[in-house]
Amino acid sequence: MSPAQKQKPAKSDLARMKGMLVIISGPSGSGKGTVVKQLNPVNGYALSISVTTRKPREGEQNGRDYFFTSEEDFHKLRHENALLEHAVYVGNYYGTPRKYVEEQIEKGKVVVLEIEVYGALQVKDKFPSAILIFLMPPSLPELARRLKNRGTEDAVTIEARLKKALEEIPLVDRYNYLVINDIIPDAVAKIDAIVAAERMRPVRSAAAIECFIGSGTGV
Ligand code: 5GP
Repeated sequence: MSPAQKQKPAKSDLARMKGMLVIISGPSGSGKGTVVKQLNPVNGYALSISVTTRKPREGEQNGRDYFFTSEEDFHKLRHENALLEHAVYVGNYYGTPRKYVEEQIEKGKVVVLEIEVYGALQVKDKFPSAILIFLMPPSLPELARRLKNRGTEDAVTIEARLKKALEEIPLVDRYNYLVINDIIPDAVAKIDAIVAAERMRPVRSAAAIECFIGSGTGV
């Protein structure tokens, strides 16, 4: 095998596809949802909508926030291989619909998955070129305060989510980037900057390089 062949990314890797896969994780209450909604459209983001067996919170809409489903239907999707990854989080199932992600990547979009750590690591195993960003709250008391102020969960669930945060935070070293979410617009700008820089990696620009070389010198 020649050195050039050795450097080629694996066939399954998204590096060979047109778009990019960006995963944003972080403890419940770290502000992932708020940050993701404010990402700059100039980067061509496509936000994946997950399937969950969790009950909708007040104001959440089926098909906008999540595809809310029964456990039976969730497992059906799993068995049909319709989910790119899935995980259990504080008693509920969550999963990423595969079809949307693949279609958007093929269109050249920057597909954003806002998912917890075990799902993120499953995706990274399948697609090593996926970019993993961990969004961290400034402190544990601040995280507890945000969860309480959100008012969407009861005390037992808040406790379970804080416990889960302590389980998730040590896995941050498996991520490519850590962004502290203290001031929301700053965190948004940092994620936009990461994505813009990742776009310029030569491995993601094979078509541009080929086009440059193919155009000849004209002299
Ligand atoms: P929540 O119930 O607060 O909406 O979400 C709970 C956790 O599940 C969050 O950390 C969220 O990022 C994560 N999550 C949402 N969708 C998915 C998914 O499709 N897969 C995985 N693995 N986690 C998800």
